[in-house]
Amino acid sequence: MTLAPPRPDVGRARTTGPDSEPLAEPNASAPRPPAPPPEHYQRYHIDTRHMPDRADLPTRFRVEVNRFELAKLLFKEIREYWGDWDVVLSRPCVYGVFSGPVGGFAPRPHLCVGCLRCTIQHPEAVTIRRNPQWQAWGDEYLKPAMVETLQQEAALGAVPVKGQGYRGRMGGPGWDGIWTDMSEIVRPTRDGIHGRETISTVVDLGAKPMYLRFDAAGMPAGETPAVSQVQLPMVLDMPPVHAMTPTIAAIWAATAHDLQTLALLPLRVMREEGLSGSQLVPVVGPGLGDPAGLAELARAPRMVEITDAALADEVRAAAPAAQVALRLPFAPGWRDALLGAIAQGLRVIHLTADYHGRGDGAFIRDLVIEAHTLLVEQGLRDQVTLIGGGGVVMAEHVPKAIICGLDAVSLDTPLLLALQFQPDGSMESRETARFVAPPGLEGDTDWGVQRLKNLCCAWRDQLLEILGAMGIREVRRLRGELGRAMFQEDLQREAFGGIDGFGD
Ligand code: SF4
Repeated sequence: MTLAPPRPDVGRARTTGPDSEPLAEPNASAPRPPAPPPEHYQRYHIDTRHMPDRADLPTRFRVEVNRFELAKLLFKEIREYWGDWDVVLSRPCVYGVFSGPVGGFAPRPHLCVGCLRCTIQHPEAVTIRRNPQWQAWGDEYLKPAMVETLQQEAALGAVPVKGQGYRGRMGGPGWDGIWTDMSEIVRPTRDGIHGRETISTVVDLGAKPMYLRFDAAGMPAGETPAVSQVQLPMVLDMPPVHAMTPTIAAIWAATAHDLQTLALLPLRVMREEGLSGSQLVPVVGPGLGDPAGLAELARAPRMVEITDAALADEVRAAAPAAQVALRLPFAPGWRDALLGAIAQGLRVIHLTADYHGRGDGAFIRDLVIEAHTLLVEQGLRDQVTLIGGGGVVMAEHVPKAIICGLDAVSLDTPLLLALQFQPDGSMESRETARFVAPPGLEGDTDWGVQRLKNLCCAWRDQLLEILGAMGIREVRRLRGELGRAMFQEDLQREAFGGIDGFGD
């Protein structure tokens, strides 16, 4: 059997074995450390490093003190606990909010956890309020507490572990309505999580025909495999229009290079900034760039994304070696557009919802399940790569999105929030979202690249945790594994469906 010669970019990831090769440098102006030589096997690893915040997040709570009442309280406590100064100085807050040099007369709200003990016990002296400045760091979908988590992950490179057990809700709308099957019984080992064995997070992007055809001379005829690998099932989506600066473009390019994944950027921006490289996916379409501009890139891309299937032929002519991906919003008519694009020969589809995960009247979770199921029913699923994005804002959303049927996830707002861009109003779409950049970011790509690497490492660790707990050795096998998830609605229906009033 003779197979077609491999595409230039196929199988060049570092962890695929001794024949791996380094990815190309992002561009001449932003050199990155070279990857190991091809003969040197190295397991995939993301270098994390503590990268402190540039801007301080506001405190969650405001601690307001009535000083006269506090003085009365203090006087009473001193009399009651005379000599036991630790007790006197820690009250009424065991978290130290009132234990500064001048006690409660200068409270330390950054230590407040909002337990409300002080205000319940001494309402005349202390009032706890939510801080509206803190609430401005987020919107109705990506809440400030989530932003706090994202920024910790970006600073530390690890998913925050909180003591006292989980205090949040056990279910909810959207992604929170999915519970993953992490039974101890199906858990063979944690070796993959602790690095003694490998759990692969490599995904294949591209055309995977179900069978090969050969002509009379024994040469392949028809569609042949054209697959490119990335080390993470996460790609960096185009930044919002309002945040699309040269520094952000440089951070995207360098981060994708270091993580051995892909970053999507408007072709126009790549040309303006002189960016090119196999880790960069130029996006072509109205306002983003013209297909003819692909020929002007210093390095040919391995993938080009188009916003309209009608551009496919023009892109193939301008960049014949590149895989062509279609960016397809979840808008009315997306099902026909999806099947039409596949019939037209497109094999990578990037499905997008808005930043709140909404599209065509449903949440991205249900839309992805529908797209995956549609392709399974049509016998097309294994030939096509589905990337999806919009509303994926927490580490656990990535494995859940893959379980629903995606091969890889595109990341959007979490990347900017990891860089401490402060939302200016609701973040609903790439076109309308507004942000305030953190101080001193312009021109300092190293800080930004490390923050994004930390974030992606934390999210990958979360993915490995779920894969390890399920006993799955590679993320490719997680795709569409709906049997490994439980849906809150289904369980509630099973448990309470026969009871009067259920569902009212
Ligand atoms: S709400 Fe709790 S943590 Fe905050 S100041 Fe009062 S006692 Fe301390």
